[in-house]
Amino acid sequence: MKLNCNVIRDLLPLYADQICSDESRGLVEEHLAECEDCFTLLGQMHSMELETHLRAETGDVLRRQASFFKRKSAVIGAVIAGIFMIPILVCLIVNLATGAALDWFFIVLASLVTAASLIVIPLVMPENKLLWTMGTFTASLLLLLGVICIYTQGRWFFIVASSVLLGCSVCFLPFALYTGPLKRLIGNRKGLTVMASATVFFALMMLSIGLYTKSAEFRRIAPVVSLPILVSVWLMFLLIRYTKLGGLLKAGICTMGIGVFGFFADYFINICIGNRISLPVFRPFIWRVSTIDGNAKWLLLLSCSLAGIILIVSGIIKGGKRD
Ligand SMILES: [Zn+2]
Repeated sequence: MKLNCNVIRDLLPLYADQICSDESRGLVEEHLAECEDCFTLLGQMHSMELETHLRAETGDVLRRQASFFKRKSAVIGAVIAGIFMIPILVCLIVNLATGAALDWFFIVLASLVTAASLIVIPLVMPENKLLWTMGTFTASLLLLLGVICIYTQGRWFFIVASSVLLGCSVCFLPFALYTGPLKRLIGNRKGLTVMASATVFFALMMLSIGLYTKSAEFRRIAPVVSLPILVSVWLMFLLIRYTKLGGLLKAGICTMGIGVFGFFADYFINICIGNRISLPVFRPFIWRVSTIDGNAKWLLLLSCSLAGIILIVSGIIKGGKRD
């Protein structure tokens, strides 16, 4: 019986697929009539086969459905792009008819391209929709601002461009880094990339403002104000991202850091630019215009320190328990 079972089990797949000889089929059926184990095994084989078949079919249906929707959305995108062409053509004709050359037409064109980047691109692009949408939106917004700057003969383009890039990088980059090509390129340096790009665009923005205003006062104060903020944000980022402390400890240290920063930042900046001021004074029972600033800073420092200590202590207790 035992040996028989093994032989039959070797034959079972052939039997299930109905590709064995008549003699083998006879043997298998004879055995199955007597052996419950092998009969159950055959049943399992059948249900597994069915499952594989069903799974393949489901995958096929989903693929067909996806490609159907892809085609549909591409068609809708093309139609919307066509609708966008109507105001563009109207403005082109009107601008040509009323002026010697095209001027404000380019503002209309760039505005509609900006709108289209948000509506048409996600429908039309077959892959990496989010990345394409964010990229073309940022580029067309810069184009729009550039065109307006040229039309109004302004000199402010670099200030606006760097602040748009700063804003877009802060809003879009965290999402963009999670899609296809950028994800492969950046790997697990996403946080670092967002921080670095924000720092670069911030520096570019301050530089552009400095060059635009040509104000000695701005050049003196801007770095002194920017540096402590940048350093604090970077320290917090490095603490959160690259240390192995527990979540509660990190939150506690950051909370205390915010309190200390709020308390000393103004004082530090004023001392650096040569203004002699004293540290904030705490008069908790006198609330006047002259005492609000000092009281608020003290309250911030005290509440952040208290919350920070609570978080750190609970972090240590929790860490101790885990060990
Ligand atoms: Zn058997």
